[in-house]
Amino acid sequence: MPQDPESGEGDWAARLEPLRREPGRAAVLSDVDGTLAPIVERAADAAVPAAAREALAALAERYALVGCISGRRAIEARRLVGLDTLAYAGNHGLELLLPGEETPRADPSVAGRESEAAEFLDIVDGRLEAAGLRREDKGPIQALHWRGAEDEATAESRAREIANEAGRAGLEPRWGRKVLELRPAGGGGKDGAVASLLADERLDRAAYAGDDRTDLDAFRRLRGLREEGRLSAAVCVGVLSAEAPAELAEESDVTVGGLDGWLAILEWLAAPEGSAA
Ligand SMILES: [Mg+2]
Repeated sequence: MPQDPESGEGDWAARLEPLRREPGRAAVLSDVDGTLAPIVERAADAAVPAAAREALAALAERYALVGCISGRRAIEARRLVGLDTLAYAGNHGLELLLPGEETPRADPSVAGRESEAAEFLDIVDGRLEAAGLRREDKGPIQALHWRGAEDEATAESRAREIANEAGRAGLEPRWGRKVLELRPAGGGGKDGAVASLLADERLDRAAYAGDDRTDLDAFRRLRGLREEGRLSAAVCVGVLSAEAPAELAEESDVTVGGLDGWLAILEWLAAPEGSAA
């Protein structure tokens, strides 16, 4: 059984045991970047290691639902993970791509407002590059990245100014690891993605792993479903890093020291009960 430095093995295994005991009623949900795929300088270069892909493929054969919830577009998340037997919630829950489906379903709450963030950034576009901010077009969500900028601190303070302007223009700014995302107010969120994915009544136990601030929305929803009695077991796994927000460890049921810790848990979940894994 894998050991983890951050939380005792007995602790996480005991918490996750209800999932492994009845995989036919269990959902295993995971963020992608920083949780399955190591963070890299440019998001386009990210990759999910083969061992993680194999563990997820094995889980998908035994568990009622295995899903990835990402800030990337759903199609892009599926390309990165490389498995179409999983469910994908993309753009932090604004898109849902179910196993075997070719086209993601859009969150109806942003219908008609899909271009608001792009139109706002078109106006400030000329100031982005000079500030060291790279723009990423994700449809209804527009992201500004400063990882690897010549002067990351200056780029971040520029991003804060833009976030304030965007807020005044009616958009919702959300912060991630060296990224600012602007989106139409009131749409999706990883909390909404968790609720959609767990809507199937056969599911009564779930785990979610994430490494960043937007994952806390998913944690809170999972915890809420447990408190309502909708789930009999809900386990929030925090994947820690030097860049992790302080609240991540505070709001996790289980913490692991990095991606390898989550991979060890995935492999343990995939192994039939009673095996040594
Ligand atoms: Mg992440």
